[in-house]
Formats: sequence, structure tokens, C-alpha cells
Amino acid sequence: MNRLNISRREWENWRGQIHARVTTLNGLAQAWQRPLAAPDSLRFVLKSYPLAVTPYYLSLIDPDDEADPLARQCLPDAREVSLAHAGLADPLDEDGRMPVPNLIHRYSDRVLAMVTRSCAVYCRHCNRKRFWKMRQEAGLQSRLAAMVRYVQNAPQVREVILSGGDPLMHDDDRLEAVLAAFKSVPHVEVLRIGTRTPVVLPMRITKDLCRMLRRYRPLWLNTQFNHPAEITKDAARACAMLLEAGIPVSNQSVLLQGVNDSPDVMRRLLHGLQKIAVRPYYLFHCEPVRGCLHLRTSVAAGLALMEELRRDCSGLALPQYVADLPGEAGKVPLLCLSETLKNDLQKHQDFFDNLK
Ligand SMILES: *Cc1c(COP(=O)(O)O)cnc(C)c1O
Ligand code: SF4
Repeated sequence: MNRLNISRREWENWRGQIHARVTTLNGLAQAWQRPLAAPDSLRFVLKSYPLAVTPYYLSLIDPDDEADPLARQCLPDAREVSLAHAGLADPLDEDGRMPVPNLIHRYSDRVLAMVTRSCAVYCRHCNRKRFWKMRQEAGLQSRLAAMVRYVQNAPQVREVILSGGDPLMHDDDRLEAVLAAFKSVPHVEVLRIGTRTPVVLPMRITKDLCRMLRRYRPLWLNTQFNHPAEITKDAARACAMLLEAGIPVSNQSVLLQGVNDSPDVMRRLLHGLQKIAVRPYYLFHCEPVRGCLHLRTSVAAGLALMEELRRDCSGLALPQYVADLPGEAGKVPLLCLSETLKNDLQKHQDFFDNLK
């Protein structure tokens, strides 16, 4: 992808990749050396939901394939705005569960700290896309101080999950300051990082980063591979480096229409993850997030998919299929359509409109 005017050295450096990201439709047309279809409707999408793709992730896309499963995850789609009225900006009411800004406390023993709002690639299916255009109100230092103070005063919290945005958008020093601050709380036993960089920016996983991270074990890292084509040599190497540093890597996929909702694709994804020793953890049902509705499947289709995978996959390669429900319910495993589950689901018809 030298059409992006990026040198070999820049390509291998994560900051070079960030710097050379494609963020405009013109940039995309240039990279692909051809005009885009219906650019006007896409320009309209970018007003609500910005575009950012690393040259690395863009290079995995076939520009001639209109149904490319990686393009679907990162390139704008007119339906993000045309269906907008139907979804909810914050379906899990996360904003209502922040005792201090940027810290979500939904489960008693663990909190989720949003330590940045930026990401290497903006995933079109992101359930926090409501944040993309918001300005961060305060600097990291003061936000962090308030979050750590809250955790200090909440002895039931034994796990802190760094999320975002993507925490690995911070440089190593800043990330270490965040990890150190939470680790210094005596009752915090485990740290976790949620990051998509192994998938969209594998150069971010450097030796220096791994050397730093290993000092904060027990530290778990969750990433998000959604399609087997994302398991490249570079991505596999990034995961291997983390594993060698003693950091278990797990995967949280999102079930996405036209990306991974076929048994064949999902089987190849799960087997591929098993081969690189990344443990499939969750398969999320796509929530009715405003701007993501065109990527959703039905729960019935998800259950049928899981039914088929159970036959072909070792338990080590099988994720838990879950829906994240608002309120007290939280993440609910979707196992089969038992009567109880049906009743629960009925209460959330907006989420599971296919089960009416
Ligand atoms: C998903 C989530 C967690 C982590 O849940 P696990 O089941 O432990 O992976 C924690 N806090 C919030 C707010 C979450 O949404
Ligand atoms: S990396 Fe995560 S937070 Fe960032 S856009 Fe993708 S899904 Fe959203």
C-alpha cells in the first residue's frame, strides 16, 4: 500500500501508522486509486461518525469487493445515518452508571475505566460511537485522580478494566501511570486492558510495551478479532509477544451481519484464534446502538450459529454468546430459548425485536 506514501520504517512504527491513517473520503479514493461510489451520502455519514483507518488495516481490504468483511467494519455506510432514529445512543445506560466521569460501575466487584476516547480505527459497530465527536472535558491526570479516589473508597472492587476508546492509544509512559495508579490500591487484585490494537495496529505491541506490561501482572488483555482475515502474521506475532510476557490474551467478537454471521466464517475465526492461543471469551450480540443497526443479526440466527459451532469446535475455541442488557441484568448468556429467557428477552423488545 505504498500509494499511501508511507515508508517501510513508518509502516512498522505504530505512530507512523497513526500519522498515516486515512481519515477522509479523498484519502480513501487516493489509496484505492479510484473514485468512491456515492461519496455524497458518505460525506454526510462522516459528519456524525468520523472515519479513521490505519494503512495496515486498510491493506487487508479488497477494494474491488463490495462485501469485504473488513471494509464493513471500518468504512462508512449510508445506513449509519439513514436508520439513526431507530437506535439508542447509549442502550446500556452507561452514562447513568458513572459515579465519577469516565468510570462505569455496573458489577459490584469490577469497574470499567475509560482512559481515552480515541481509537486507532473507528469500528462502525462500536457501541460507544456516541463519544467519537465529544471533547474530553479534563486532562488525563485529573480524570485519573478522580477515578482512583473512587476505587480507593470502594473495597468491593477487585478488578479494574481499562477501556475507552483504546487504552493503547496512550504511549507507554502514560499507560504505565494509569496501571500504576490503579495497582497501588491495595484491594485491586487484577487489571485488565481492552484493546483492539493487536487487530488493527499490531505494531503497537512492542518489546518495550511488553516489558512494561509484565510488571503489572496479573494483567489480562482482551482484544477483538471479528473475522479470520484479521489473523495475519503481524497480528499473530503481536499476540505471541503478549503471551510470552505472561499476559493471557482473550477475544471478544461482535456478531455482525455480513462479517461473521456464517458458520463457515465463524468456525475459521475460532479455529484461527485457537491456533494462536488466543482464547475466545465472548461473542456479543450486536446491541441496538444508534448508527449500527444495519450490522445486527437476530438472536435466533445467533443461537442457530452457536448450535452449529458447538458441534464443530472444541470447548477451548467456543466463546460465550451474550447479550448486554440495560439495568441490573448485565451480560446475559444466550444459550437456548428457555421460557425464562424468553420472558427476559420480551421485556427488552427493542433489543430482540425478532422474538416478538
Ligand atoms: C462488560 C463489562 C465488564 C466486564 O465484564 P466481564 O463479564 O467480567 O468481562 C465490566 N464493567 C462493565 C461496565 C462492562 O460493560
Ligand atoms: S476499538 Fe473498541 S472502542 Fe474503539 S471504535 Fe472499535 S469497538 Fe469502539
